[in-house]
Amino acid sequence: MPIDKSWIDSPLQSAHYQQGLRSFIAMCERVLPNHNEVRCPCSKCKCSGLTTITKMKLHLGRMVFWKDYIKWDYHGEKSRPAVVEVEVDNVVPQEGMENVIEDIRGERMEEDTDRNLEMSGGESNGVDDDFEDIIKDVESELYPGCTKFSSLDFLAKLMNLKETSHWTNTSFDGLLKLLQESMPIGNKIPPTHYVVKKKFKKIGLDYEMIDACVNDCALFWKEHESLQNCPVCNESRWVDKDTKGTKVARKVLRYFPLTPRLRRLYCLRHTAKDMIWHSTGRSEDGTMRHPVDGSSWQDFDRKYPNFAMEPRNISDDIQTFSVQDLAATQ
Ligand SMILES: [Zn+2]
Ligand SMILES: [Zn+2]
Repeated sequence: MPIDKSWIDSPLQSAHYQQGLRSFIAMCERVLPNHNEVRCPCSKCKCSGLTTITKMKLHLGRMVFWKDYIKWDYHGEKSRPAVVEVEVDNVVPQEGMENVIEDIRGERMEEDTDRNLEMSGGESNGVDDDFEDIIKDVESELYPGCTKFSSLDFLAKLMNLKETSHWTNTSFDGLLKLLQESMPIGNKIPPTHYVVKKKFKKIGLDYEMIDACVNDCALFWKEHESLQNCPVCNESRWVDKDTKGTKVARKVLRYFPLTPRLRRLYCLRHTAKDMIWHSTGRSEDGTMRHPVDGSSWQDFDRKYPNFAMEPRNISDDIQTFSVQDLAATQ
């Protein structure tokens, strides 16, 4: 459900603002892990620095809400699941890393148990090595004695900073080296960004990079993959086409392949439930509350009864995904 933000435009003393502020504070208390380290979105603080929820509440009672703070990232507003984003990425899931791993681990263990039982006639020998490594990272402290971060949690936050601040790979590698040298011996800082990326790939948080025309006409993809200029406007693909080193594309699209994401949505207990909501939450009193209660949806179901029978099958205006498709690409 979208967060109601209309109240921030009402006068401070109005009932609308006061009511909105109360629900905002309640939301923060619910979703923010540390009530003594929050960012105040009043027009003076503008989310810089940390304060307590109590102080934030006082500020917002006296000073108007910072109008340029559109998406309330610091206050628990979640990103919508991204499919395609140009030049913006967010490799870190909004859920706590441990929950995600916990869910994937459960799923993997079930799969492995089934497979191993088949293969060994009854004996199970546990999860695969890749995954065991990830579990170790989740459970291991960042450096001996560190109680605040697991090594994977820290890396997830660091990668998020790298991506949102557009740090180059070289500068990031430099930072990793410094962190590695400055932290106590036995720390789990990896040597390069490449190693970190590989780790996240294993848990399905990877994306593909596809060069794009600087004017957004076409992607250098499939039959256009080897072109040097845009097939539509003829602009060069590269920042410097005569460079002797590796060429750098002027624009890059980061594509989050949909299939593994859908598969992951079904793997996680808390999202799997929402994914089939349309089959369990239909209106029974004849009132239309959601497209699923409308005639177009029902018409589609009548036309494609086999597809409609399985609630995990998904379709949008462009493509359809059946459970078989998802399983086949495993
Ligand atoms: Zn403030
Ligand atoms: Zn073009």
